[in-house]
Amino acid sequence: MYQRIRLGYFPHGKRKALTMSFDDGRDSDRRAVEILNKYGLKGTFHLNAGKLDRPKYLSKSELATLFEGHEVSSHTFSHPHLSHVTESNFIYEVLEDRRVLEEASGQFVRGMSYPNGVNGTEIADKLRALGVVYSRLGKATGSTMLPTDFLFWAPTTSYYDPDALKRYERFRDAKVNAYLSIYYWWTHSISIEVDDAWEKFDEYCKSISGCDDIWYATNLEIWEYVTAAKNLVISADQSRIYNPSAISVWVEIGMEHPLEIPSGKTVIIPDFEDEYPY
Ligand SMILES: [Zn+2]
Repeated sequence: MYQRIRLGYFPHGKRKALTMSFDDGRDSDRRAVEILNKYGLKGTFHLNAGKLDRPKYLSKSELATLFEGHEVSSHTFSHPHLSHVTESNFIYEVLEDRRVLEEASGQFVRGMSYPNGVNGTEIADKLRALGVVYSRLGKATGSTMLPTDFLFWAPTTSYYDPDALKRYERFRDAKVNAYLSIYYWWTHSISIEVDDAWEKFDEYCKSISGCDDIWYATNLEIWEYVTAAKNLVISADQSRIYNPSAISVWVEIGMEHPLEIPSGKTVIIPDFEDEYPY
C-alpha cells in the first residue's frame, strides 16, 4: 500500500529549526558568544582568516575554545567583492580561508556567507568545487522555507530588521504541517557594539530561546541533517527505508507520523492506514 513519505521533520520529530550567524570575526563576537551560551543558542561565525590577529578582530589562538559548540565558517580570506577577483585569487580566497580556520579551530569549515553580499551562479559553482556546501546571502527575505539550493541560502531576518522579534513569534506560533521550517537571523556583532545594544540583544536571545518545538542548530548542522534526509534510500515497493548517513533522520510517514531511521539502519515502514485528503 502506498504511504506518503516526506522530509517533514528535523531531529526528534521537530518541524522547526532556528539558526543565527555573525559575520566578519570582530572581537565583539566574544560578547555575542557569551550571550548565546547563556540561553543555549547556537551560532555560526563567518570569519576572514586574513583579518584575524589584527586589532579589534579575533585571534587565531582563541577560535577553538571560544567557538566550542558553535560553528566556524568561511567569509573568504580578505573580504573582497567576489566579482572582482582573478580566477586564481578566487581559489586562494576560499581555500586559504578554510585552511587557516580549520587549523585554528579544529573544525571542518564547509560553509560560507558572501562577503559584501556578492553572489551568482558562476560564483556558486566555483564554491561547490572548492568544498563549500552552503553560503548565506546578505538580503533577508522574511521566508522560513527550506532553501532549494543551500548555495543561495536567504536568511529570514536580521539584526537590522525592526520586525525580527515579531517574525520569530509568528514562526514559533505557526502550526506547521508536512514541511520543514527555518528561522534564520544574522548580524555583524560589531553593529550591536556600535549601537550599544547588548542589553537589547540579550533580551532578544532570551525571547527566541528555550522553545521545545524548535531545534536550535548551526548552519552546518541544518545542512548536514537535510542532506542526510535527502540521501535516505527507499525501496521501490516503498516498504523499507535505509539510512546510509552518520546521523539519525526522522521522516514523516502518511499524515504526521514521525519515524526515526537511525544511522546505518534499515527500518520497515509501518502501515498507518491514513485517509488522505487528496
Ligand atoms: Zn562581511
